[in-house]
Amino acid sequence: MSITDFVLAVEDLTVSFDGFKAVDKLTMYIDKNELRVVIGPNGAGKTTVLDLICGKTKSTSGSIKFKNQELTKLSEHEIVRAGVGRKFQTPSIYENLSVYQNLEVSYPKGRGVFGSLFFKQTAEVENRVREVAAEILLSDALDMEAALLSHGQKQWLEIGMLLMQDPELLMLDEPVAGMSAKERDQTADLLNRICKNRSVIVIEHDMEFVKKIAHKVTVLHQGKILAEDPMDKVQANEKVIEVYLGH
Ligand code: ADP
Ligand code: MG
Repeated sequence: MSITDFVLAVEDLTVSFDGFKAVDKLTMYIDKNELRVVIGPNGAGKTTVLDLICGKTKSTSGSIKFKNQELTKLSEHEIVRAGVGRKFQTPSIYENLSVYQNLEVSYPKGRGVFGSLFFKQTAEVENRVREVAAEILLSDALDMEAALLSHGQKQWLEIGMLLMQDPELLMLDEPVAGMSAKERDQTADLLNRICKNRSVIVIEHDMEFVKKIAHKVTVLHQGKILAEDPMDKVQANEKVIEVYLGH
């Protein structure tokens, strides 16, 4: 593959589990500051695509280039350090720590100017915690124990923990599942804001929500791309209606 301007270039990506191809020669390109939504029926391979990009699952063949760096050879930690953040379906926050502490522990170690004074580093972390808390609508809950947050707020806190690392690519698996209508709208606004500074890939089933955020939609079916278009075109696509939207 040649050098590209894409943040993420996935080419001919395949993973085979005992001969079953969960992802089958997938090719997909994500632009800088793009918000891409991936939809498709259960078992289509959506979560597996994120597992492959973040290094949790190793590919059988094909390539994943993040800013022209091959990810398929890297460990999960190396991929995080390269600038890829991934949120799983169930939130993994520290329930017995405060919102502030949850964000603080997510600040990347060894950041900041080499040899900078301890108090200077502390101020840097505190600034970042407050910035991120405002972004995820939890400025007024910094001292609250995370266990006491609503389900939606817990999801936002986990997004915040990822934002502490300032990833250039953020991937979210079904972020509004179980949220109230109001929380869904607030999450759409949140994602529309954070994709101004990074690329975002979201897996989601809620079409009203998808409409509010997607720049483009990729429809997966049996590990392959069935369609890739803006939302209105995807919704009018007969093949997509047949395998997914019509159900
Ligand atoms: P989706 O997220 O679109 O619902 P998944 O990516 O979770 O689908 O799964 C796609 C297919 O791959 C499913 O048939 C699933 O059972 C299978 N699969 C996913 N991960 C594994 C694994 N680690 N081992 C074996 N099969 C798997
Ligand atoms: Mg899934």
